[in-house]
Amino acid sequence: MTDYIGAHLSSAGGFFRMGKTALGIQANTFAFFCRNPRGSKAKAVDPADLEKLRQLLEENRFGPLVAHAPYIMNACSKDEGIRNLAEEMMRGDLALMEHLPGNYYNFHPGSHVGQGVETGCRLIAEMLNRVLRPEQNTVVLLETMAGKGGEIGGRFEELRAILDQVELQEKVGVCLDTCHVSDAGYDIAGDLEGVLAEFDRVIGLERLKACHINDSLNPVGARKDRHARIGEGTLGTAAIVRCILHPKLRGLPFILETPNDTPQHGEEIAMLRREMALAQGQAE
Ligand code: FE
Ligand code: FE
Ligand code: ZN
Repeated sequence: MTDYIGAHLSSAGGFFRMGKTALGIQANTFAFFCRNPRGSKAKAVDPADLEKLRQLLEENRFGPLVAHAPYIMNACSKDEGIRNLAEEMMRGDLALMEHLPGNYYNFHPGSHVGQGVETGCRLIAEMLNRVLRPEQNTVVLLETMAGKGGEIGGRFEELRAILDQVELQEKVGVCLDTCHVSDAGYDIAGDLEGVLAEFDRVIGLERLKACHINDSLNPVGARKDRHARIGEGTLGTAAIVRCILHPKLRGLPFILETPNDTPQHGEEIAMLRREMALAQGQAE
């Protein structure tokens, strides 16, 4: 069984270079923005650069990558212009992802800004139904959110409501963020079995395709969304290791989004692999 662990990397130096960076920190998956995460402007796609990355990933047996949509994307804004921009960005990013077939594209469902959860979920599903194509080679993931403000995706039921309205079922899934679910009130550190059972009951564990592994600065239910380095928050290293090694999650891509630079992410990956080996030794 291969455990896929990586971190969020910068694509600023190009895509192939990002693959080299991943190898340099012993990552076998990673996350990245297809464009400037806080802006909407797409970079010119360089097919040769993407093809070099595709080959590097294949040669080094990487697990699935988990691209991340821009933070400013809001598919359920009250403002039609912002909704259209979200759609345009997702369509552009998915076109880029076709150069890297077989990977994931994760996005924050959005913020309903007072329109209510039901309207929000409908707008998000409608956008997905306009953007997703039967022939695409990327599965789009909804991220579990901390549930602050009008944020959709803090409750598993909200993600289920979106998924239920999507026509191309095999093109959508879920990415679980450990910091976010804890902040949303699911005690993933104290009761992993209970949280996974609830996820399975409401959404179905077969829809879970990737995990973001982050510690949280705040207690369960705080709805703050402040990530901490692994072991420096309220979840703790052992809880994160239990997630990675859980039989129902094992083999998924696990992505660090902790407040670190790339060399520190490398140390965090090495630390997690040591702790995983120890935990497995104890289990035998
Ligand atoms: Fe995210
Ligand atoms: Fe996340
Ligand atoms: Zn977050």
